[in-house]
Amino acid sequence: MSQTLIDMKNVSFQYEYTQVLKNISLKVEEGDFLAILGPNGSGKSTLLKLLLGLLKPMTGEVQLFGQTNETFHNREWIGYVSQKSNAFNSGFPATVEEVVKSGLTKKIGLFKRMPKDVNSKVIAALSSVGMEQFLTRNIGQLSGGQQQRVFIARALISDPKVLILDEPTVGIDHENVQSFYDMLAKLNEEQNKTIILVTHDVDTVSNRISHVACLNQTIHFHGFKKEFDTISQTQLDNWYGHSVRKIH
Ligand code: ADP
Repeated sequence: MSQTLIDMKNVSFQYEYTQVLKNISLKVEEGDFLAILGPNGSGKSTLLKLLLGLLKPMTGEVQLFGQTNETFHNREWIGYVSQKSNAFNSGFPATVEEVVKSGLTKKIGLFKRMPKDVNSKVIAALSSVGMEQFLTRNIGQLSGGQQQRVFIARALISDPKVLILDEPTVGIDHENVQSFYDMLAKLNEEQNKTIILVTHDVDTVSNRISHVACLNQTIHFHGFKKEFDTISQTQLDNWYGHSVRKIH
């Protein structure tokens, strides 16, 4: 039986007077590849911050690997790639190798020695995302999609069990989105990474994804991607007020 890695139980959250999340219950099992779909302002970033322990719920509880967010200390089990990571301009003075290595600095502390096998770890992480040939390139010279892959490699170098991606396809050309999802599916299937991503764009909810959760303040639906495909536009309009269009 697969293990429940993340368990949000009846979580509510508000910023001062704005209620953002209401009674969120969401379980993520080991091996899931979950897309959380919601338009801008639906609470996606807030939900991720609650998962990462950066915010505390007003009511309810977030459990990670069976522990509460307060008692959970294996932070390296959760890799996070924020949306802002790939905002490097062409002048940023770091190579792909340095960016990926910096994922380990976070884990071992700034002044400690890198492990002896750091170079092979960098290559392995880059190979997992199909970017090993870019090792010595400047990060700022890569396309948005290539940068996104490098930041995923940076998260992978600590060998996390869960990968959390915030709007990963923003900045990736339309024709490259499918191969990006193929790469994520490989990480999911071959390296057993549980993947959670948030997106506002229903078009990017690829067939490689196993589960979908529809968020707008609360979770309106959570189930298999195949079930999600049968949801009508009228139903989506009820949840999202015409801001999520299945058919363009
Ligand atoms: P999403 O990521 O889906 O766009 P967010 O979680 O960023 O949604 O925001 C949900 C709601 O919370 C929005 O109405 C937003 O204006 C509000 N909000 C987000 N961050 C803050 C904050 N730090 N203080 C007050 N309100 C916020």
